[in-house]
Amino acid sequence: MDAPTPDCTVDVTIIGGGPTGLAAAYYAGHREASVRILDTLPELGGQVMAMYPEKHIFDVAGHPKIKASELCRLQVEQAMQFSPDVHLETNAETIRHVPAGGGEEVDQLIELVTGDGRAFRTRTMIITAGHGAFEPRRLPIEGIDEWAGRGLSYMVKRTADFEDKHVVIVGGGDSALDWTLGLHGIAKGITLVHRRDRFRAMEHSVSRMRSLVDSGGVALEVPCEVTEVHGNGRVEAVTITNSESGTAEIVECDSLVTLLGFKSALGSIANWGLDFHSKKQVTVDPHNMETNLPGVYAAGDVAGYDGKITLITIGMGEAAIAANRAITYFRPSAKAQPKYSTE
Ligand SMILES: Cc1cc2nc3c(=O)[nH]c(=O)nc-3n(C[C@H](O)[C@H](O)[C@H](O)COP(=O)(O)OP(=O)(O)OC[C@H]3O[C@@H](n4cnc5c(N)ncnc54)[C@H](O)[C@@H]3O)c2cc1C
Repeated sequence: MDAPTPDCTVDVTIIGGGPTGLAAAYYAGHREASVRILDTLPELGGQVMAMYPEKHIFDVAGHPKIKASELCRLQVEQAMQFSPDVHLETNAETIRHVPAGGGEEVDQLIELVTGDGRAFRTRTMIITAGHGAFEPRRLPIEGIDEWAGRGLSYMVKRTADFEDKHVVIVGGGDSALDWTLGLHGIAKGITLVHRRDRFRAMEHSVSRMRSLVDSGGVALEVPCEVTEVHGNGRVEAVTITNSESGTAEIVECDSLVTLLGFKSALGSIANWGLDFHSKKQVTVDPHNMETNLPGVYAAGDVAGYDGKITLITIGMGEAAIAANRAITYFRPSAKAQPKYSTE
């Protein structure tokens, strides 16, 4: 089967390229369906890549211990075997059903319009949007996003990017502490800035960070905030202001990493006419993962029903059900039960 092009109607469009979406893409491809994946993030992997790529996961069947980014890499490899049409940094904004032309097995197609105005057509859709589109929490500094990619990062993807750099890390949770410890010995210098002298991270990490501060390995600035960014095209320094005394100092740095967490919101999906099981979960029938809209399925964290558990393994199972059921929607003579993949 040829890879779908952006202008063709596909069999299955997957909204969200996290672990569930990738599993759905594999299953749909395995059934020789053409697949399109949309995700607002710049890379596939959903929460796993956005929030904890360097952590280990212990509860995915068949992997006693696997680095989150490695699980994602394997899932991407598995899903890409069937060459889905992938659109990253693309928000699925609106959907509507439109009459299908001649030669279609379905009466209506779904037309999806993206945040930047592109329209895609699909026979079915699987919503695997997790908690919705992700956005990092940002420092309340006007124009802060202009520094993104020019020394400002909202996550640590590759430790090698910080080699021999002076890094200012902002935050007081697990990620901020994990990366203060994780970049120690890699970065030339680390300054940790937090608005109070209490941390929400694991006690063990806080103790290790404090010993590094005592031994001079990390500079700790509390209760402080980064209030300005300076540089000529790239981050070269930041102003750190003490929130009690009001005193400010300029600290030179090459990188500013703000680890203030992510916020996610279902956003546009909430306006698609779907029934909701809870504020953040679309109602599905767990027997077939159907939503109330024809040809629209949901799976993973975004799919809700009584007794739902939000775990990667559950999302993968639901993806298999949703993808195989979607096949029967546009190929009415097909069975939901797939042939085994074994060769
Ligand atoms: C710190 C942490 C640790 C965890 N540890 C574990 C663990 O050990 N084991 C485990 O099983 N689970 C764990 N989880 C939970 C697990 O990560 C989730 O259950 C899993 O990621 C859900 O996968 P998903 O594909 O359903 O959704 P997500 O991973 O949330 O992916 C959804 C994707 O949809 C995209 N999206 C949303 N809306 C749109 C839109 N309108 N248009 C385009 N794209 C959109 C988002 O950008 C996102 O990339 C952990 C979660 C966290 C936060």
